Amino acid sequence: MDTSFNTTKEFAEALDKADVLYHVRDRFYIQPNEIYMDGNSLGLASKDAEASLLNALEDWKKEGIKIWNIEDSKYYHYSKHIASNMAPLIGASPEEVVVVGSTTSNIHQAISTFYEPTKDKYKILVDDLNFPTDRYAVDSQVRLKGLDPDDAVKVVKSSDGVFIDEDAIIEAMTDDVALILLPTVLYRSAQVLDWLVGWLVGWLVGWLVGWDLCHAIGAIEMDLTQIDADFAVWCTYKYLSGGPGSTAGLYINKKHFNRSPGTTGWFGNKDETQFQLNHTFEHQRDASGWQVGTPNILSMAPLEGVLNIFNEVDMHAIRTKSLHITSYLMYLIDEKLTDYGYSIGNLRDDFKRGGHICLVHDEAYRISLALKDKGVIPDFREPNVIRLAPIALYTSYEEVYKVVEILEEIAQDHLYEQYSTKRGLVV
Ligand SMILES: *Cc1c(COP(=O)(O)O)cnc(C)c1O
Repeated sequence: MDTSFNTTKEFAEALDKADVLYHVRDRFYIQPNEIYMDGNSLGLASKDAEASLLNALEDWKKEGIKIWNIEDSKYYHYSKHIASNMAPLIGASPEEVVVVGSTTSNIHQAISTFYEPTKDKYKILVDDLNFPTDRYAVDSQVRLKGLDPDDAVKVVKSSDGVFIDEDAIIEAMTDDVALILLPTVLYRSAQVLDWLVGWLVGWLVGWLVGWDLCHAIGAIEMDLTQIDADFAVWCTYKYLSGGPGSTAGLYINKKHFNRSPGTTGWFGNKDETQFQLNHTFEHQRDASGWQVGTPNILSMAPLEGVLNIFNEVDMHAIRTKSLHITSYLMYLIDEKLTDYGYSIGNLRDDFKRGGHICLVHDEAYRISLALKDKGVIPDFREPNVIRLAPIALYTSYEEVYKVVEILEEIAQDHLYEQYSTKRGLVV
């Protein structure tokens, strides 16, 4: 990868010309006069997602209840249908992926499936930088077993509040640990945890290891089969652009298909007997057996379309452009912004960083407000981080160039001073 850059606008234009993914941008809804840097929180809508959503709506209008039977029962098996296009993104087999629930409800599902505490082996190992909802779910699952999270949840502490040291994770893997839940990419600092850790754990000692892929799926390449992960959860509205609140994903390693789901429902029953409506649950022995209720067709439909883009382009090309365009952004920050109190808060090694750049500034919150007024959509994370995510599928190098120009102007002219530091409801 050529990372010799320069600071001219012409150079940004030349990078766009050379970008093999540039044309994919036309398939997304890019607003005029807006630069969208928040695809790591909510991916933009695409024409492909719109088409599959409208198609599902049309099918509902025309078919009513018959919708479940048309096209070889496509919607009845919609999770399987979508899973076959989602599994390649994480190196899983289609039967190991179920499209269901939300990340949080899938953590509940996975922990309640895998967590079988005994007197000596009862702790769940987590880190203190994971997204809070993961922790809320883990704590409540521990309580449901009659245990106290203060004792049964073992937390690996970050030494600097920004990164997690893999050695600290390994050190914390003591015999009393029953299950481990870790993020693949940390949501604030974009650190990619070393996959080797997960592989080592699962393979050497037989602990159950689950991964939260929220900031990884659609952003970095992964191979869950290679590391023999036990389970994984992810949302589909960030890099995958499935739409606000689109249905999430759950991976169950096929070696666990004989376990019973922690939370069971009729869509996890075997197809052959589901509509006999017996009161005895017969578990479908693949990941679809972890479905609970009726699939959320309208929250899944956009995924059907948008995943075609991912599979046409393939994750390697996406990751290659993502690393290049984020390198370019870091280069411009280093060259043009460090004099104004900005610094880069993510790790620099390619294999250690995910899809967004973590820009640190003491006035990050007010700068993020000024950015919005200038048509740049970033996101802010307490206390001092602006996350900037140039998305491989739809962000141009010229947009990155402009964002840095605007960041420079905001700092140079102290434009952020006209904003209040009071936080809004969704920041
Ligand atoms: C985005 C995100 C979530 C979101 O959970 P939902 O249940 O989908 O709202 C959870 N965990 C992590 C690590 C995330 O980044």
